[in-house]
Amino acid sequence: MEPQRSPLLEVKGNIELKRPLVKVASRLPLPGSRRKRGPDQMEDALEPEKKRTRGLGTTTKIATSRPRAPVLTTVPPTQGQTAAPKVPKKTGPRCSTAVATVLKNQKPGPAVPAQKPGTAAPPMVGGKKPGKRPAWDLKGQLCDLNAELKCCRERTQMLAQENQQLRDQLREAQQQATALGAERRVLEEELVRVRTQAEQGQQELGNLSARVLELEERLGTQEGLVQELQKEQLGLQEERRGLAARLEEQERRLQGSEAALLGSQAEVASLQQKTAAQEALLAERDERLHGLEMERRRLHNQLQELKGNIRVFCRVRPVLPGESTPPPGFLLFPPGPGGPSDPPTRLSLSRSDERRGTLSGAPAPTTRHDFSFDRVFPPGSGQDEVFEEISMLVQSALDGYPVCIFAYGQTGSGKTFTMEGGPGGDTQMEGLIPRALRHLFSVAQELSGQGWTYSFVASYVEIYNETVRDLLATGTRKGQAGECEIRRAGPGSEELTVTNARYVPVSCEKEVEALLHLAHQNRAVARTAQNERSSRSHSVFQLQISGEHTGRGLQCGAPLSLVDLAGSERLDPGLALGPGERERLRETQAINSSLSTLGLVIMALSNKESHVPYRNSKLTYLLQNSLGGSAKMLMFVNISPLEENVSESLNSLRFASKVRSLPIPALSGLLVVVGFSILTLCPSGQGGHSSRKDLHLPGIWSTTYLDPFFFFLIIGFWVF
Ligand code: ADP
Ligand code: MG
Repeated sequence: MEPQRSPLLEVKGNIELKRPLVKVASRLPLPGSRRKRGPDQMEDALEPEKKRTRGLGTTTKIATSRPRAPVLTTVPPTQGQTAAPKVPKKTGPRCSTAVATVLKNQKPGPAVPAQKPGTAAPPMVGGKKPGKRPAWDLKGQLCDLNAELKCCRERTQMLAQENQQLRDQLREAQQQATALGAERRVLEEELVRVRTQAEQGQQELGNLSARVLELEERLGTQEGLVQELQKEQLGLQEERRGLAARLEEQERRLQGSEAALLGSQAEVASLQQKTAAQEALLAERDERLHGLEMERRRLHNQLQELKGNIRVFCRVRPVLPGESTPPPGFLLFPPGPGGPSDPPTRLSLSRSDERRGTLSGAPAPTTRHDFSFDRVFPPGSGQDEVFEEISMLVQSALDGYPVCIFAYGQTGSGKTFTMEGGPGGDTQMEGLIPRALRHLFSVAQELSGQGWTYSFVASYVEIYNETVRDLLATGTRKGQAGECEIRRAGPGSEELTVTNARYVPVSCEKEVEALLHLAHQNRAVARTAQNERSSRSHSVFQLQISGEHTGRGLQCGAPLSLVDLAGSERLDPGLALGPGERERLRETQAINSSLSTLGLVIMALSNKESHVPYRNSKLTYLLQNSLGGSAKMLMFVNISPLEENVSESLNSLRFASKVRSLPIPALSGLLVVVGFSILTLCPSGQGGHSSRKDLHLPGIWSTTYLDPFFFFLIIGFWVF
């Protein structure tokens, strides 16, 4: 393969070829050109020379093209052009020989005798010297000399002519030199111009070379890029093939999916039909469920009312470690009419009449005091067992009926334990307040499925010596008593509120726990001779429940009040009335006053009296919306199991007995009537066991509602 010729060399070659220097050399005088010639003639004469120069090749060209050297001197003597100065020598060998001979003969030497006339001089053959004449032949010698002189003259004449010719030639040469000088200047100018052009060409060439290099570099880069792109293209082609394969696969799947979709669409259409039917059925069920729910609420309330809007439970705490065990038979819990399996409702307390025994000297007789309550919890009853009994009341609060639960009893009988729970945060020991709230939150959650939305706002106050104090106060308001007043929420409003008390919205057990903890911290612990101030004050935990069914535009709301009453014990008459005791006497009087007012209020309510003395104490005034009317009230009578507390226990039991209302036979009769009325209320085919699967009622409702007939009938007969 022919190597690529550099553009630079190419340009150089072109420039060299254009040099007209050969022409200059061709104008040199040529040997033998003795005639005067014109420029044209000279050109003609130079033609062969040109031809010869061309034939010499590159070396000859370079030698003849040196423009700065004088034309005549630059030509090497070996060249044909150098013959010009030697032209005279080439006029002929004969004349030159003659001149040389003449000159030789002019040298001083012996005179040659003249050749005698008539003496024939020996002829010179071929320019050779004639044979030597004898010395005596002077004539002959003279003849020879004459002949030689004649010859010399001729030669001199000839040389003069030749000299003339040479002068002419010299003149001609000078003229030619002048012309050549002019021509040289022209050529030099041309040379300068050509050089300039060449320099420009060189520069251009340089630029072009740089450009070429740059382009080559770019070409290299581009080639690299092209290679990369080619690689990338290959990769992309590969990828494209993969994608095409995947596309095909996807298309196949799509086709399959489309087929499946068509099937699914048909299925969806049928399902939609079914769904529409189900929705219609659901709406119908929902409607029925709502009706049943409202009916359940009504019947639940009816049941609670039949059980008694005012109920009394008695709870006996266990003997604590370190306490003296009471004598056997001191407290008895006779079984109900259904046998030992029945939950106890009666309590028998025996008390020895020591005074009578002492007087007669015989052992003191014992007096048995029997009490009957709605439910009696012996010492072994757990917190869960207690709560189970009141969970129905909590349900009533959710249904929109005010509920109030009291814990009544002497100090140390277990009121706080029943309401708040035992110490240590043991869940088994949790009292009514945390259990009731947990139950409320859970049932409210279940009811949200039926469109009900519930909210709860908690408050916790303490009433001590007829002053109200916020147990949930924080910061600077902590410990400030007397600033809280019970007021109506607004003009004409039935709702009561405690001024300066915190009403905290709660939605989970943790929040309730935090509130109870705060109340515990805030509770005054001013020690008295007998107990803490906490035992000398009423603690009122209130939860305002608000329910709303936006879909049906229904609302319900009621307060749930849980009250830990102050100790009901009377002042020990044996105690000296010092300044501290006087203060405690005032406390006790305030407590007794408020507790007796509570008793009066409850009795007025159970007797359905027109005037209920709510305003006689702060406690009843604060709780008036939770008592009376459709409100449900439950009183726990907490009893100490100790014999030493028998007097206080009897007082508490007597107080609680007075609180009980509604005669039992009337209640049992009503329960039986309600049982039958529910049986008739149930739609055909929906009553009894057959309805169990259809009615998906939540939680405890299912047991109360699904078999209402049997439920109420059994309760009715049991109560009877
Ligand atoms: P009160 O509030 O009536 O003054 P407390 O609730 O403080 O009485 O109870 C006094 C003590 O008896 C506490 O130590 C409490 O833990 C304990 N107690 C009360 N009832 C029970 C019970 N049912 N089971 C176990 N311990 C109880
Ligand atoms: Mg207490």
